[in-house]
Amino acid sequence: MNPKTDNVDAAEIEKFSQLADQWWDADGELKTLHDINPLRLDFIRRHTVLRGEKVADIGCGGGILSEALAHAGAQVTAIDMAEKSLAVARQHAQEHGVDIDYRHMAAEELAQTMPEAFDAVVCMELLEHVPDPAAVIHACAALVKPGGTVYFSTLNRNVKSYLQAIIAAEYVLRMVARGTHEHGKFITPAELARMCRHAGLDVAALSGFTYRPLARDYVLCRSTDVNYLMCCRKPAP
Ligand code: SAH
Repeated sequence: MNPKTDNVDAAEIEKFSQLADQWWDADGELKTLHDINPLRLDFIRRHTVLRGEKVADIGCGGGILSEALAHAGAQVTAIDMAEKSLAVARQHAQEHGVDIDYRHMAAEELAQTMPEAFDAVVCMELLEHVPDPAAVIHACAALVKPGGTVYFSTLNRNVKSYLQAIIAAEYVLRMVARGTHEHGKFITPAELARMCRHAGLDVAALSGFTYRPLARDYVLCRSTDVNYLMCCRKPAP
């Protein structure tokens, strides 16, 4: 297998490349990622002290979460397979005086070059866009030091997530661009937990997050029916 390219869906990369100029438009097509950023940072901070820690951001896009992690004091290495998004990320970081090591690389390749180099690994809203999510999870497990944490967020797969994340979000409320998500690629929390365990990670915490239409914001919640976050730990020897 070629770790550089094998686990990449070219259509997915093209889709995000076409949105590249929108990464930092908080009211644009990628608005949802801006809206959920404070709560995912909040979730991460419940389990990881970020200041001074080395953090890898896998599938970083334009760097919305990477910059938040850097502002929280982490030393961030961030990778994505969309060159255009990385160009936007680099420019935005430079303009805002944020120091982030952006690289055009797949997770599997970074794992080969920097094994056990990170205190924490974050991989948000990526797994539902790759052909083989288990391979990305294995790479994340390989990247983190023993005792370190790995975070995933993705979408659950059921009727409710189809109605909310595809029908409502893409067609009715038009919160995200049509065709952003394919329901068949969504992953249940049980499936994600199983893949994490196979990669040698222990599941430490699970939380849902949900959109409140009246307040027009997102909050962490118990229900993992639609969007959810998982925190895993690599056991120390
Ligand atoms: N993690 C970011 C962006 C999520 S959007 C955030 O939550 O804010 C999904 C990102 O995954 C896009 O930037 C897309 O280019 C990237 N991507 C898709 N397939 C990928 C792959 N195989 N390897 C690395 N990045 C990939």
